[in-house]
Amino acid sequence: MTITCADCGEMQVVPPLPPGGTAECHRCDRLLARHTRTSSDVTLACAVAVFLLLPPAVFMPLMDRTIKNLLFEESRLVSSVPVIYSEVWFPFAFGFLFFAFLFPAFRALFQILVLGSLRFGLPLWQRGRVFRWSEELRVWSMTDVVVIAGAIAYLRASIPADVALRVGAWCYAAVAALAFIGDRALDRRAVWDAILPDRRGWPGRRLPSCDSCEMAVDSRRSGDPCPRCGSRLDRNIAPRFAPALGAIAAAIPLTIPAYAASIMVNDQLTAVIEHTVMGTVQMLADRGYWQFGVVVLVAGVFIPITELIGMVWLLARVRFPSEHGLVLRTRVYRMLHRLARWPIIIPFIAAIAAPIINFRGIDDIVAGPGATPLFMLIVLIMFAVRFFEPRLMWRAAGERA
Ligand SMILES: [Zn+2]
Ligand SMILES: [Zn+2]
Repeated sequence: MTITCADCGEMQVVPPLPPGGTAECHRCDRLLARHTRTSSDVTLACAVAVFLLLPPAVFMPLMDRTIKNLLFEESRLVSSVPVIYSEVWFPFAFGFLFFAFLFPAFRALFQILVLGSLRFGLPLWQRGRVFRWSEELRVWSMTDVVVIAGAIAYLRASIPADVALRVGAWCYAAVAALAFIGDRALDRRAVWDAILPDRRGWPGRRLPSCDSCEMAVDSRRSGDPCPRCGSRLDRNIAPRFAPALGAIAAAIPLTIPAYAASIMVNDQLTAVIEHTVMGTVQMLADRGYWQFGVVVLVAGVFIPITELIGMVWLLARVRFPSEHGLVLRTRVYRMLHRLARWPIIIPFIAAIAAPIINFRGIDDIVAGPGATPLFMLIVLIMFAVRFFEPRLMWRAAGERA
């Protein structure tokens, strides 16, 4: 089939692949196709299970916590939302609701619609568009991040108390595992091909191409909507440079309040302890949970700093183009794109810990003044990575590499 690499814009023919086989772009190494050993029925089954398990995972009790059989409290994932709403900054409350619950639910629903309609031969209006939406939601569905944040919040909550995991926690862990399995089992190229077949054979010239489903179309012109997914063919990417640059420029000064101020304030019987990001790492290490300290250190400090440095480098290379190292920079961009969601684990830990560590005056966690700058820093980085297109570098360098 003839498809056009979304990262570098090179049109190429992908041969039929054996089960387990993969095809990479010959110019920038982007993974163009992966023929999975499983059928898309696995993904369909996982999506159905995720969709059914998400409501109990979010609305059923998540953890309960007692101190010496005197004090008792119970939390649910959904109870994080009003706590964040009242204590931190309301956009983050919506962010938690969307990333942890609504986006995974919509993604599962879209997959059920597309794969189910293909499986049973049913008609579906705008099937390509619905599949494009489900793929777009892939980076924004953060079930895996929530599970690890929940594990750390659980350890923190259990320090002066007895904490028990409840049915909501097990449901959510199952949701994260099923979403992961469904994603690994999905043969995207086969689904796109089933929605509207790709062109076979080499057309002899570069055709207008979709940067979302990577289809090369000879019956339409640049700027027309893609016949398969409704995105735009040869979309003009130049206007995406300024928002990416602006987001990074705004993010850099936020690093100072985000890391210098405390993100959690812990009001204990004996003292009021303010935790900065580094302080949280220190506390986890002191308690013997150094593995989780490493997770916080990497996700909360190393990844945001790497993202900022990496994006400054890539943006500078659009302004001052060079053919040298284009492939390396495209690979760096793909890594930054994959990692950009992980720093949000830090506000998520605070979000899940706040409703369960809520014995006022004895052991109580509220968000500190650093939480808002940290959350904004992370969101700005995610926006910048989402807006940046590696093809900007290829185009600026004359696409000759
Ligand atoms: Zn490529
Ligand atoms: Zn398309």
